[in-house]
Amino acid sequence: MNLINGKEVAAKVKNDVRGDAEYLSDCFGVKPGLAVILVGDDPASAVYVKNKTKDCAEVGFESFEHILPASTTQEELMALVKQLNADKKVHGILCQLPLPKHLNEREIINAIDPKKDVDAFHPENVGRIMIGDYDFLPCTPAGVMELIHSAGISVSGKKCTVIGRSNIVGKPMAMLLLHENGTVTVCHSKTRNLAEECKDADILVAAVGRAKLITADMVKEGAVVIDVGMNRDENGKLCGDVDFESVKDKAGFITPVPGGVGPMTRAMLMKNTLTAYKKAFGIR
Ligand code: NAP
Repeated sequence: MNLINGKEVAAKVKNDVRGDAEYLSDCFGVKPGLAVILVGDDPASAVYVKNKTKDCAEVGFESFEHILPASTTQEELMALVKQLNADKKVHGILCQLPLPKHLNEREIINAIDPKKDVDAFHPENVGRIMIGDYDFLPCTPAGVMELIHSAGISVSGKKCTVIGRSNIVGKPMAMLLLHENGTVTVCHSKTRNLAEECKDADILVAAVGRAKLITADMVKEGAVVIDVGMNRDENGKLCGDVDFESVKDKAGFITPVPGGVGPMTRAMLMKNTLTAYKKAFGIR
């Protein structure tokens, strides 16, 4: 078994971003800027936002935190997005999801300028990913691809199974594997025989949200196993969708949780913000 170390790969991505940001900030007299909007007091979301601010400082970006009360109205949030769209110091805008139930998430995402949409959730960016002509990729699937590349694994011609079909992970993940010529199967809660679909895969990506759903008997000998899941086990410990202890001896490559996909998601957000900044100054 080869462990794919997400912390190491993420550190390298952030290091490259920091180098570029330092050089370009000197050239243009302004740092890349990321605005993060948090509505309400969900503790997990608050941690994610704090981490994003920390990552910005680490790579030499400006960060703008907008922490709003749970009582914020749709009109107030739309007005903030409009203001950030027009702000020249802000190159990337991220609205931490989920939003409180009374707010219309889709309307907010659609209001973000696609050029500043560093999550790549705007329909324009989603469509561009579909046709393979994009500036940004959603951070988690992009991070997974980076991990696969870092291990020197070629996707071309391989059987790839993605478990999960969410708009933010599963669907774009399948699309990225397809772009690299994988033969892709997408599984979900209505899939008839999940074990059979998994057992066939040379590359297995689990993005479900069910602790230790994937066991050794579901994995092909030597397969690449990427675990996107972030769950709590019976002892409250962070764990993935893959039963790491049983699968690790069967897999050719495997990502751990924590220390696998999670750090990559954070690093790719920094990379996307740098891309948005470069594009604002007309460079690729
Ligand atoms: P989601 O929107 O809840 O989607 C879960 C998907 O899993 C759905 O497509 C669902 O099928 C499918 N599913 C549920 N139970 C299943 C089962 N028993 N067998 C097969 N498929 C099943 O979740 P998400 O946002 O994509 O996130 C998935 C996991 O990744 C979560 O644990 C989340 O915390 C984690 N995550 C991690 C990162 C990171 O940076 N590491 C980033 C994002 C998400 P249906 O469509 O049929 O309901």
